[in-house]
Formats: sequence, structure tokens, C-alpha cells
Amino acid sequence: MVSTTLISNPSASEATITSATPNGEINGAADHSNGVHVSKGPGRHQTVGHKSLLKSDDLYQYILETSVYPRENKALKGLREMTSKHPWNLMTTSPDEGQFLMMLLKLMNAKNTIELGVYTGYSLLSTALALPEDGKIIAMDINRKNFDLGYPFMEQAGVAHKIDFREGPGLDTLDALLLEKKNHGFFDFIFVDADKDNYSNYHERLMKLIKIGGMIGYDNTLWNGAVVAADDEVLPKYVRYYKDYVCNINRVLASDPRIEISQVPISDGITLCRRIL
Ligand code: SAM
Ligand code: CA
Repeated sequence: MVSTTLISNPSASEATITSATPNGEINGAADHSNGVHVSKGPGRHQTVGHKSLLKSDDLYQYILETSVYPRENKALKGLREMTSKHPWNLMTTSPDEGQFLMMLLKLMNAKNTIELGVYTGYSLLSTALALPEDGKIIAMDINRKNFDLGYPFMEQAGVAHKIDFREGPGLDTLDALLLEKKNHGFFDFIFVDADKDNYSNYHERLMKLIKIGGMIGYDNTLWNGAVVAADDEVLPKYVRYYKDYVCNINRVLASDPRIEISQVPISDGITLCRRIL
């Protein structure tokens, strides 16, 4: 089990980070909520939850202002602004990653998807917007309250009918899905953004649920760059704790012959895995 000084929330992921991180580190989460450049000094985009491994904040801000905010769906913008005021806001998917997911889903013609780790739903709403009218997302999270906060924006966008939210631990919900044969090899896309210490446990289950040719995306696989930190490097406690789990899933994915992979360094890193066997 994880130490309680590290985890004040059972969601062992970025949720943990938020509750364990001094406010100073997460204040920046609201900096780009309205698309206006607000300079708050260096590093505001570069904490784990804050979505940029790029060489400068200004470069990231440039991407947001030039390519992302001007095209962001109105309901997504509303959800982002609401989420920026939530105390755990550093967990949210960044808008540039949301835009990337939408592009990917459309290119794949994805229709049936799973999301593990919803929070207030930025990646979920992005997915729902990218799916066709009869598309479906089974969305899993142990915390329904945060999903409920985001739900009105999904209704506003006219995509709530695509979302099937299931409250509870991801492993249990996946095991329930696996009991039905029809779910095996059924899903086009699965986005994994829940408890990082369970990623390798999720992987074996998800390999049964994803179709051959389908894609699983594991999020935060660069873990704020900490995957290459030396053993004696000083890291925030939460970064240090999850580093080994993230490094482990990276090894597991790199050596799995059933998939082709691409490590995409957007946001905090997403590893795309296409099932081939
Ligand atoms: N994708 C979300 C977004 O776009 O805002 C962010 C997800 S957040 C990083 C991680 C989520 O995983 C939290 O909402 C947390 O409650 C959930 N979580 C943590 N442990 C979980 C578990 N064992 N099963 C399901 N969800 C879990
Ligand atoms: Ca994430």
C-alpha cells in the first residue's frame, strides 16, 4: 500500500499529486483558462499536471493561443474554465492533448471506446465530440462527483447520450466487462488516465477488450520527465513514488509483441499502442 503522507485520496494518480502538492505548484493551472497570456513567471506549465515538456512555457503558450484555443469547442472551453477553479485541477487533460485525441479518434473512425480516469471530463468530452452520433464511451472512475460537475457541459455539447459512466475501481469494472464475451476485441480506442500504479494490471485486461487494429493510449508516460531522473535526484514525493510504476509500464509496452507503439511527447507523454496480435 501507498503511504498516507503521499496519498490523501484513494485515487493513486494525478489526484494524489494535487492533494499533496503545495498550491504554489498548481496555481498555474488557471493561467491559460481563458486563452489570454498571463505571465506568472517561469515554469508555470511545467509541473506534472501542467502539461508541458516543451523547452519553454512561451512555446507552449504559443501552441495554445495559435492552434488550440481559437478552435476549441464552446462546451469544452466552459468545462476547462470550470475545472480550472477546482482544487484538483492539475489532473485535467490539457487542451492541446484533447485536440490531439480528437484528431486521432476521427482518423481512426473510432466508434466504441473506453476511458479509465474521468475527473471532470475534459478528455471524455473531447472523445464524445469526436465520435459519430451512435458512438459510445464506457467511462470509469472511482469518483462520480467530479464527473457530475462536468456533465452539464456534455449535455450542452449534445453528446451526453454517448457516455455510459460506471463508478468504481477500474479493475472491477473491466473485469465485469470481460465477463461478457461480446466485449472481447470490441473496442476501437481506450484512453488510460487513472491510477498509474495499476497501468500494467489494466494492460492485460485491455488487450482482451481492444480490437486488433484498435488503439490504447496510456497517458502521463513521461511523468514530467522523471522517467530519466537519477536515483539520487531530488523529486517531489509523488513524482518519485509513481516514477517506478511509469518506468515499468514503459518497459512492459516496449517489449509487448502484441502491439506496435509510439511514445508521443505531447502534454505529459502519451504512449499509443496499436494491437496487432
Ligand atoms: N482524463 C481526465 C481528464 O481529462 O480530466 C483526468 C483523469 S485524472 C488524471 C485521474 C482519475 O482517475 C481521477 O478522476 C481519479 O478519481 C481516477 N482514479 C484513480 N484511481 C482509480 C481507480 N482505481 N479506478 C478508476 N478510476 C480511478
Ligand atoms: Ca493525464
